[in-house]
Amino acid sequence: MAAMMASEKMRAQILDGKMVADAIKKEVADEVGRLKETAGVTPTLAAVLVGDDPASAVYVRNKVRACEEVGITSRQLVLRDSISREELLAVIAELSGDDDLDGILVQLPLPKQIDDRPVIEAIDPAKDVDAFHPTNVGLLAMGRPRFVPCTPAGIIELLDRSGVEIAGANACVVGRSQIVGRPVASLLLQRHATVTVCHSKTRDLAAVTRQADILVAAIGRPAFIRGEFIKPGATVIDVGVNRLTDAAQARDFFGADADKRVAAIGEKGYTLVGDVHPAEADLVAGRRTPVPGGVGLLTVAMLMKNTLQAAKRRRGL
Ligand code: NDP
Repeated sequence: MAAMMASEKMRAQILDGKMVADAIKKEVADEVGRLKETAGVTPTLAAVLVGDDPASAVYVRNKVRACEEVGITSRQLVLRDSISREELLAVIAELSGDDDLDGILVQLPLPKQIDDRPVIEAIDPAKDVDAFHPTNVGLLAMGRPRFVPCTPAGIIELLDRSGVEIAGANACVVGRSQIVGRPVASLLLQRHATVTVCHSKTRDLAAVTRQADILVAAIGRPAFIRGEFIKPGATVIDVGVNRLTDAAQARDFFGADADKRVAAIGEKGYTLVGDVHPAEADLVAGRRTPVPGGVGLLTVAMLMKNTLQAAKRRRGL
């Protein structure tokens, strides 16, 4: 019993993404209500889904549902997988020019025949609530953000609202993608962390990540960050969302929590795991985000916040 209590005590504190996301959505809902009352404005978001990728469909459904929760009007456009680049660009141009719309999001990835870049660049930067347009990327890099990409913004909110000190901390971001790694590194730097960015060519990755007080993993490899990558007591933010179909791996990754994960694999064919090995991280980290229930929920909450901001800013409010 005493041994069990000791090991219980050693488990990392779980940072509750749902609690923080719910608090943000409540704040957004209150402000949306005030905006309606005082200015007669209801923020409106268009969500564009191209093709029938099941994961993308789930993401868009969650975003539409969040709009309903906070009182934002949403329009969902589902376009066929075989759409041409020209046709898609024409749709985006129409949405950009529609004065009733405040935000436009194009769910990525797009089908193979369409390059993301011109599509993102066709979005009016004032409606670019995902903050992927080069204008918004540039403003963020200059330290003058207009919109902040949702996942990185959500990570900073989670750190702040969980009482994690960013200024002066050694922060390490593993991953340098345009949508997560680079912007989160930029934000941590603006908040006065000492930031190291790692990627697939980093030498002796574990030796670098072990210096971090705040470790952000945005890699896309299941349970890649093992216990030896983590500084004892560190805060570990797991951005990864990976589908796991192997029950033996689930037993290894989830330790004491494995039974329900193995059951999920039996029921729906998979369970989700992040880029961090949860059972090992629990023994070393001070705090960590779970998958699911961590960063993903914040991404959606920050999209709501960005849409509200777009609606206000477009009207000079
Ligand atoms: P990308 O594939 O665009 O980038 C992955 C990054 O990881 C690259 O910079 C790559 O390095 C680096 N990397 C890959 N292998 C290694 C390795 N062995 N060692 C060190 N670095 C490595 O992924 P994203 O940033 O788009 O997404 C990352 C993860 O986050 C995915 O699981 C994705 O599903 C998830 N995600 C979750 C979101 C959420 O809301 N929770 C939102 C967005 C993404 P290099 O540049 O050298 O190739």
